Amino acid sequence: VSTSAIKTVCPVCRGGQQPDCLGDYRILKGYPLKRCGRCGLQMIDPQPDDPTLEAIYQREYYDAWGIERDEDLTRALKRATFGRILRPIRHRFSDSPKLLDCGAATGYLMEEAQSLGMEPYGVELSEFGAARIADKFGTDHAFCGPFDQAAFAGADQNFFDIITMIDFIEHVRAPIEALAKAFWLLRPGGQLVVLTPNADSLSRKLMGTSWLHYKLEHLFYFNRRSLTYALQQVGFEKLQVRRAWKSMNLHYLAHQFAQYSHPVLTPAFRAVHRLSPSGLRRKMFPITFGELLATASKPAAPVPDTLS
Ligand SMILES: [Zn+2]
Repeated sequence: VSTSAIKTVCPVCRGGQQPDCLGDYRILKGYPLKRCGRCGLQMIDPQPDDPTLEAIYQREYYDAWGIERDEDLTRALKRATFGRILRPIRHRFSDSPKLLDCGAATGYLMEEAQSLGMEPYGVELSEFGAARIADKFGTDHAFCGPFDQAAFAGADQNFFDIITMIDFIEHVRAPIEALAKAFWLLRPGGQLVVLTPNADSLSRKLMGTSWLHYKLEHLFYFNRRSLTYALQQVGFEKLQVRRAWKSMNLHYLAHQFAQYSHPVLTPAFRAVHRLSPSGLRRKMFPITFGELLATASKPAAPVPDTLS
């Protein structure tokens, strides 16, 4: 229903002394991409309507089945990535911290969290993913729908110890509101983790509009400054924003680039994949894709409710 109205004020930094900070930047797949002259946030504005985005997500879930044929491999890569993110946080909490994963897909992060002694909950838009989460962790630990409508029995304000948003915040129509909801759900001292593309990354600067993260379903593109502003605006503290690493192998990369066709990278990875011995194709290595990993805390002392 909602194609949001054209905005001139940046939703993240609100422009400071320059309220007309959002200017035309590029055209992305037929849609205007705007950029804030103050904090560097990029956003598609006006946003694609619901049927357009739903069609994209439908297609993506079908494509995901191609990888699911190699489910063990996918699981191993994803869990290695998620373990790298979760382990440094895990030790800050005592027995069985409650974790909420936003955009939980089929629950690989939740699996890793469980193996690290956490109690995982997940929010997932697709019925396919949400059903698999419910199978694995129970219907009371899975919510099917958008995060702004997410609710769990008994999970009120100050309920969760950890909330994760991995490849998530760039998809939502109102990221500040999503961060505010996470803040509300977290208990004082709770941890938020956000992984999202970096609009100021070298790969973005080198590749221009053919940057692999420029997709119609990615409505917002943060950089270090705008992500910091967004988290601070909502009330988070102890911010750390750094380069994100993911676990990868050649087989998975070649598959990804076959799916999301890129003029240079798709033939390049096809060639590398074809020339590599099979052992090497499946060897895991850390790689950075021009993404940011941010961690932030809800202040330990009780604070006023920010969801007014
Ligand atoms: Zn801004």
